[in-house]
Amino acid sequence: MDKSLDNRELVITEIYPSIQGESSFAGRPCSFIRLTGCPLRCRWCDTAYGFAGGTKYSVESVVQEIKSLGINLVEITGGEPLAQENCLLLMQALIDEEFEVICETSGSECIETVPEGVTLIMDLKCPGSGMVEKNLWKNIEYLKPKDEIKFVIADRADFDWTVDICHEYQLLARHQVLVSVAFGQLNPATLVEWILESELPLRLNLQQHKYIWSPRKKGV
Ligand code: SF4
Repeated sequence: MDKSLDNRELVITEIYPSIQGESSFAGRPCSFIRLTGCPLRCRWCDTAYGFAGGTKYSVESVVQEIKSLGINLVEITGGEPLAQENCLLLMQALIDEEFEVICETSGSECIETVPEGVTLIMDLKCPGSGMVEKNLWKNIEYLKPKDEIKFVIADRADFDWTVDICHEYQLLARHQVLVSVAFGQLNPATLVEWILESELPLRLNLQQHKYIWSPRKKGV
């Protein structure tokens, strides 16, 4: 371990082992690192408890804690993890230790400097989130083929917008595109109907942890 990582700090809301609930990694055991803070305020945000507070950790101490959990897959999430500069050091440190690293980002921070080995799950914020103007469209150029794009759908207008964006940026030819419901606002069965109607290879992305445990439960 690089000794300089002893004094590079991150503010973290929680670190915990669970099952990955989303993306093409769904169902796999996974350690989660939730970084504190987010510059966005999506209307349907389910992690507002991570906007403030948190505990300071050195990058090295996070890596040691993840090692102690004994799970190869690690997700860095938030909040918006890329809003903390030292997140990039954490990603590289975990890759150097041969972890498989996923990062969930809102797509509002530039991803250009994210280490090559990281798989990004990048949101594109639909109009229903109230944050559509925060999408950093240039990020689409920096995505690697293995990176996945997620749309959280609150209503039919969000779904139609998603389809338009997939066509405009040719996303389906290059990436796994995930579509989720804004939990409690749209029935998953309705989203399935829309996916089938569209005849597009969209992947339904249910947040499995919200069906296994209470939707409000933290640390799962
Ligand atoms: S980007 Fe994520 S953490 Fe930030 S407000 Fe939106 S849903 Fe919540």
